[in-house]
Amino acid sequence: MEKFNIDKIRADFPILKREVNGKPLVYLDNGATTQKPSSVIDSIVHYYTDMNSNVHRGVHYLSQISTDAFEVTRKKVQAFINAAEDKEIIITKGTTDGINLIATCYGRAFIHEGDEIIISAMEHHSNIVPWQMLCDEKGCKIRVIPMNDKGELDMDAYSNLFNEKTKLVAVTYVSNSLGTINPVSDMISIAHRHGAVVLVDAAQAIQHIQIDVQKLDVDFLVFSGHKMYGPTGVGVLYGKEDLLNAMPPYQGGGDMIKEVTFEKTTYNELPFKFEAGTPNIEAGICLNEAIDYINSIGLENIEAYEHDLLQYATEKLAEIPGMRFIGTAEKKCSVISFVIDGTHPYDVGVILDKLGIAVRTGHHCAQPVMDRFGIPGTIRASLAVYNTKEEIDILVAGIQRAVNMLI
Ligand SMILES: *Cc1c(COP(=O)(O)O)cnc(C)c1O
Repeated sequence: MEKFNIDKIRADFPILKREVNGKPLVYLDNGATTQKPSSVIDSIVHYYTDMNSNVHRGVHYLSQISTDAFEVTRKKVQAFINAAEDKEIIITKGTTDGINLIATCYGRAFIHEGDEIIISAMEHHSNIVPWQMLCDEKGCKIRVIPMNDKGELDMDAYSNLFNEKTKLVAVTYVSNSLGTINPVSDMISIAHRHGAVVLVDAAQAIQHIQIDVQKLDVDFLVFSGHKMYGPTGVGVLYGKEDLLNAMPPYQGGGDMIKEVTFEKTTYNELPFKFEAGTPNIEAGICLNEAIDYINSIGLENIEAYEHDLLQYATEKLAEIPGMRFIGTAEKKCSVISFVIDGTHPYDVGVILDKLGIAVRTGHHCAQPVMDRFGIPGTIRASLAVYNTKEEIDILVAGIQRAVNMLI
């Protein structure tokens, strides 16, 4: 890993220099959102200082350069996930927006009364609720892939859930509450054998694992900019061209039309058909810098570094008396969830905050996972490329101190 220089990487993130409650910040809430490197922050300032103008509309110079920059991001995303065409990249507001788009548009056209949708027991609420809303509207049904005590999906049970009514599978690549890496490649092959399409929620995967949508043969893939070192308010929906073409548009408005009269409207072609209205222009443009940043380090280097860090953190945390890990899958990345006997996650989180350590406590938008393990919530430390073993040591010492105070 000669290219991997952790001191240089940390220096790229200005916020890591600040203190919280008089202590150096130890930021371990990357599953909620990551910090941004200077290149991303600077590009937002650059956009408003030198380029600000609406996209896809004007004939004038500024509108042309902002449109070009927005389209550069689309091409950058295409290359990043190896999509066949740049028109298969829809710029959204984020993962939630992308899933709702598919539930609405694919659902409207292709899912009918009595049909079935398969999701997993470890989905984020944003990959549960849109399907429930669709089922309420259409009279279709959700079936859930169970998991074992380690937080791994039961693949035999998965295969047995299919029948002639199964239309769609929506599954997360990496669990935000457990860290489990699901075997999505196999899951997609199985679904395709049964004639179902697959949506993969890559919100917790895109910043940790190399993704090739053509190799996966995934039908739809969604992720958020803000969890991959980019701005908030922007995300990506990848969809296979023929599927996107067959779907009705999402929202109606400007940019998504070809021609409008009061009698009839014809819709624009891909990708604009799904991009109604003025997008978050600066976030769309600056997502390009976030991908450049990841590419400058190399996802394979990030994967190896974070894997090592996760292993170290797991070993060190295991030494704390009363520690119970939630999520002990063979294949994991970036997330360590746990509870400690005799303490409430929230109380531990408050004490850690006093020590400058940012973790998340609670159900992590995955209440069914907490129910499955019979707990109200967990303490979650989630890693990014700039975290270090020294920070893990500070976390472990902080938890020891919290436990001593609480028990
Ligand atoms: C964060 C997250 C989402 C929702 O992403 P938003 O950026 O809030 O739209 C969905 N799924 C998973 C697995 C996540 O971690």
